[in-house]
Amino acid sequence: GRTFFVGGNWKCNGTFDEVKKIVTTLNEAEVPSEDVVEVVVSPPFVFLSVVKSLLRSDFHVAAQNCWVRKGGAFTGEVSAEMLVNLGIPWVILGHSERRLLLNESNEFVGDKVAYALSQGLKVIACVGETLEQRESGSTMAVVAAQTKAIADQVSNWSNVVLAYEPVWAIGTGKVATPAQAQDVHSELRKWLQDNVGAEVAASTRIIYGGSVNGANCKELATKPDVDGFLVGGASLKPEFIDIIKSAT
Ligand code: 13P
Repeated sequence: GRTFFVGGNWKCNGTFDEVKKIVTTLNEAEVPSEDVVEVVVSPPFVFLSVVKSLLRSDFHVAAQNCWVRKGGAFTGEVSAEMLVNLGIPWVILGHSERRLLLNESNEFVGDKVAYALSQGLKVIACVGETLEQRESGSTMAVVAAQTKAIADQVSNWSNVVLAYEPVWAIGTGKVATPAQAQDVHSELRKWLQDNVGAEVAASTRIIYGGSVNGANCKELATKPDVDGFLVGGASLKPEFIDIIKSAT
């Protein structure tokens, strides 16, 4: 079976005090054990070390990005090697905010995924269509092209979680319906089956992101191909605990 996966993407939010408060709330929460739900929170780079050191040991941390190749003269970047060196197990790559605001192409994201995996990081790889793409009927073509650029470079899928995050649902309060999410997730799993293999398709977690909250998570979680969530805004609030609990 695929262990339910709940990621909290804090994006570019939080003061030091706020971050410590969130960690305290998480540390005091009663949640199902790690074999039932895998929990990963992703603070901004500057808070990664402190969160890692304060956070309970059954929750894990992720960076929100890393450099595409070995570190060096790349001002402002953080390398995969540095994350590994600090014991950071996960990295989020290909988030739509980076694809759209920082012009990260499918190929660039694929390169990043490949390099991060080669260094031993586990990757949450994000795909998702814009509203315009959905309305023009190209959702599946878009997410398939994004997934292909990743799949072309991945040989070991056991360290990859695929996050379907429709851009129109991110930060908008317009969550995908459970049927819309299930539709794309099952198409993505079929894509993996046809293009990578049955075993990878059956074992890879495909998680949903976009306006997930404590109220809508439960029904989304009942869908057979929704293996968890990548949560933005609600991951900064106590309701993140309710989302973790939607695993059961
Ligand atoms: P929101 O949950 O704030 O819509 O953000 C989703 C997201 O982008 C997680 O990576």
